[in-house]
Amino acid sequence: MASEPLSAEYAKSAKSACKGCMKNIAKGELRIGFVGKANFGTTAWYHYDCIWKNYENLTSIDSSKTTKSIVLGYSDLKEDEKKKLDVDLPKYCKEAAEKAAAAAKEGPLPMATEYAKSAKSSCKGCSKSIDKGALRVGFTGKANFGATAWYHYDCIWKDNDNLKSIDGSKAAEKIIKGYSDLQDEDQDKIEADLLKHCKPPADKRKGDASKDGPTAAKKSK
Ligand SMILES: [Zn+2]
Ligand SMILES: [Zn+2]
Repeated sequence: MASEPLSAEYAKSAKSACKGCMKNIAKGELRIGFVGKANFGTTAWYHYDCIWKNYENLTSIDSSKTTKSIVLGYSDLKEDEKKKLDVDLPKYCKEAAEKAAAAAKEGPLPMATEYAKSAKSSCKGCSKSIDKGALRVGFTGKANFGATAWYHYDCIWKDNDNLKSIDGSKAAEKIIKGYSDLQDEDQDKIEADLLKHCKPPADKRKGDASKDGPTAAKKSK
């Protein structure tokens, strides 16, 4: 098996879907993927622009190596795309490492979100069970044994005691663990509700909000 962590090629069919945006990758389009990261050890494919957003996987890549030794199929790419990759790969790997270091420094996030994997959890707000697959939101470390206290999506916004300690002026991905794995529409919903329900402390507002606001994360350079 190849030892390159990444693979690049022109899609042979239009059958693969991008693991980032979930949309189809057109036949003949340049696709790039993490080798062995999809089901059954296959490659998790992305659109060229989408892969750079997956920073958890990028942090494990040693970008001091040559692009050729990192990317399987590199030699078969067109010259201008090789050049693009030579620039983008070290750039985004460095960014990923910086992001990971910053996240580690900040410690665990105060909230978490996910689509419930089973119907076994019950809501700390209304005490009813949370359906499997339902979007649930919780406060990390607030349940027994340091576990996450989960709520129905609509119920959590009524828990003012926990919400008031959260700085809603931060980017949503810096408040809620699992945020970037949600579908776009759910990300937008959470972002809006955080701003509405978590009042940022007045003394922390300064000029930070514009730089570090929820929209900053979506901007690409
Ligand atoms: Zn994509
Ligand atoms: Zn509830």
